[in-house]
Amino acid sequence: MKIVVGHLYPDYLNIYADRGNIAVLSRRAAWRGHELEVRSVSVGDPLQPNEHDLLYIGGGQDREQALVAQDLASKAEGILEAVGEGSAVLAVCGGYQLLGRSYRDFHGLDLPGIGLLPFDTIAGDKRMIGDVLLECELEPGVRRTLAGFENHVGRTRLDPGAHPLGRVVAGFGNDGESGFEGCRVGRVVGTYLHGPLLPRNPWFADWLLVQALAHRLGEAPELIPLPDELETEAHAVSARRAESRGGRH
Ligand code: GLN
Repeated sequence: MKIVVGHLYPDYLNIYADRGNIAVLSRRAAWRGHELEVRSVSVGDPLQPNEHDLLYIGGGQDREQALVAQDLASKAEGILEAVGEGSAVLAVCGGYQLLGRSYRDFHGLDLPGIGLLPFDTIAGDKRMIGDVLLECELEPGVRRTLAGFENHVGRTRLDPGAHPLGRVVAGFGNDGESGFEGCRVGRVVGTYLHGPLLPRNPWFADWLLVQALAHRLGEAPELIPLPDELETEAHAVSARRAESRGGRH
């Protein structure tokens, strides 16, 4: 099965090797006999709402975000339509911030978001940096952890009733106060976790592949399990580093 991924602004938003997430999705798809076709969608490129099974946008500093924000806002209608028709989305840090309604950067510049996710983000005066550990429950009663690295000045405030990606076990999370991190609406996930995220969180990489395949097939398939010893060890190392920071900040 071909899975089509739209990689938004790979030439601008790729801080902390976030493109490694694409490499993991490609390999884990191939190990199950699927082909991941990655198509770059950058400034000035058209975005066809029904073209992609998964849209991916990585992170970047305020400067890179300012370079793409207007173009991303011009794609908002197409992205919202794609999500309405079941496309999945993974957005990391700077890309995550721009999926909200707005991002006020460190210099007070208001960047438009696309309003896909229910929040606003405002830069604070302290950069939140370090290893992070989250507890997630994407399916009722199934609790799993995500480990990663965060580096952001943005404080993301979810609207009342909005669903976070997970509860902060260690680290700052969305704003260093709420105790939660990320945001999830259906097949759309935004998170501050870099790393890159997916090599050390194989269950989540597979969850994203299932969402993308569900868009293509109309129903969520079962994926054969993979021998994830190395990935599991990488997760454990990252989780231990986060926990050694001494809990939530
Ligand atoms: N520029 C944003 C911030 O500092 C996002 C940073 C990032 O993508 N790592 O909050």
